[in-house]
Amino acid sequence: MSQRNSLPTLPNYVNGEWCHSTAAEFLTLINPATADKLAQVPLSPAADVDEAAQTAAIAFLSWRRTPPVQRVQYLFRLKGLMEEHFEDLSRTITLECGKTLDESNGELRRAIENVEVACGIPMMMQGNILEDIASGIDEYMIRQPLGVAAVIAPFNFPGMIPFWFMPYAIACGNTYVVKPSEKVPLTMQKIFQLLDQVGLPKGVINLVNGGKAAVDAILDHPLIRAISFVGSSPVAQYVYSRATANGKRVQCQGGAKNPVIILPDADLEMTTRITADSAFGCAGQRCLAASIAITVGEAQQPYTESIADAAATRVVGYGLEEGVQMGPVISTQSRDRIHQLIQQGADEGAKVLIDGRNVEISGYGQGHFVRPTILQNVNPKGAIAKTEIFGPVLSLMHVETIDQAIALVNSSQWGNMACLFTNSGAAARKFRYEADAGNIGINIGVAAPMAFFPFSGWKESFYGDLHGQGQHAVEFFTQTKVVVERWSQKDWSRKF
Ligand code: NAD
Repeated sequence: MSQRNSLPTLPNYVNGEWCHSTAAEFLTLINPATADKLAQVPLSPAADVDEAAQTAAIAFLSWRRTPPVQRVQYLFRLKGLMEEHFEDLSRTITLECGKTLDESNGELRRAIENVEVACGIPMMMQGNILEDIASGIDEYMIRQPLGVAAVIAPFNFPGMIPFWFMPYAIACGNTYVVKPSEKVPLTMQKIFQLLDQVGLPKGVINLVNGGKAAVDAILDHPLIRAISFVGSSPVAQYVYSRATANGKRVQCQGGAKNPVIILPDADLEMTTRITADSAFGCAGQRCLAASIAITVGEAQQPYTESIADAAATRVVGYGLEEGVQMGPVISTQSRDRIHQLIQQGADEGAKVLIDGRNVEISGYGQGHFVRPTILQNVNPKGAIAKTEIFGPVLSLMHVETIDQAIALVNSSQWGNMACLFTNSGAAARKFRYEADAGNIGINIGVAAPMAFFPFSGWKESFYGDLHGQGQHAVEFFTQTKVVVERWSQKDWSRKF
């Protein structure tokens, strides 16, 4: 890191080397719990993206010819290094993002699991063949890499989200550019220090720090063939339409407003614990956070009382400290936005049953904290029922039947996750079958797919066809080639 205003300025990593961005603008990175200044983040211009893309395009020529069994050896080494540096990486996530150390550990574990799955590329990337599609003619399908691909990542999982894509992309023979969120660039700095030790050929993997200018340069760059985006839905829509108009393959995971339904037969203690973790874990800054709890029939009163108690007693503080269950939100702007949305909910008729606004955490007066908040009797037709708050706010709604609850779930424009809490297998099956969402949980609060399943997402929570992780990622990062082949038996018999 070079020094700028006494704070380190984060470098980019291009062509196997750390290098200065040519940026004229920088952001100051802040620890959201302590407000300590951590580093200067360059807002790299298009020229920096161009250099990374050119480098990656050259590296692709030989990387695609490197046998898959050799390509994955670099990933085995990366996994080893990530395990060795697990604690440091985890602390870095908490430092810049605010979540608790336990939450950072969980995030990092899922990142490593994606490396492990991508190590299976020699199996996953295989094509298929049918002999004798006509007499003496065979037809087969092979998978080939695309070229240069890139990821544009959000702030809430700085260690995990690039791993939904990157290990698969390079294992399939593509070369890669990572553009982390400018709000949390430190974790990728550390990951790239490990990638540097892994010894990948120069240019296979590149890091460009930045914001909108870097994103636009990625969307327009003629050498970048495929783009994975994760972030808010308005930006997802923008990225999808601009990049597809430029002829690229694009997958965009967007925002969410996730409902959980609680039936009267659900285990109250377990449901409360799990839904509280879902709504308030990571300070509600998870695309799979429970945001609306819909009670059915007699579940209303006991669940309302127990979730209110869980919200009021959650331990909020600095994520590096023992016993803390919830950290700050990412920025003062984010905190102010959440405050405003809570007020909007109240203005629309909801009761602020537990109010997490204007909280001060002892010793962290400058931190961006919001305590768990519960809005009761939220109007399903109001704006707050449809707006992603992305903070520790749970909206309560009530209906009399499971059909009404599922209808409420399906009336949403979002479709990232929906969960049901019950002891009834028949209710669970009905819900799984009928709910319009890409990730479904039954007695699960955060239905995050393992690395070997696609991270689904429907409706305005996803733009594209193939999702991140697992076999979907392999399909996204390869193009199919079909070969129809005939050899003359006559020539063969003359020669031998
Ligand atoms: P964001 O949309 O603000 O930023 C995401 C990325 O887009 C960043 O790298 C940023 O630099 C870039 N960007 C931001 N504004 C841009 C613009 N106008 N033009 C071009 N690029 C721009 O999202 P965020 O606040 O970092 O992350 C939170 C959002 O991400 C939430 O909406 C959350 O639901 C969503 N998310 C979704 C998933 C999922 O799997 N569906 C996972 C994690 C987060």
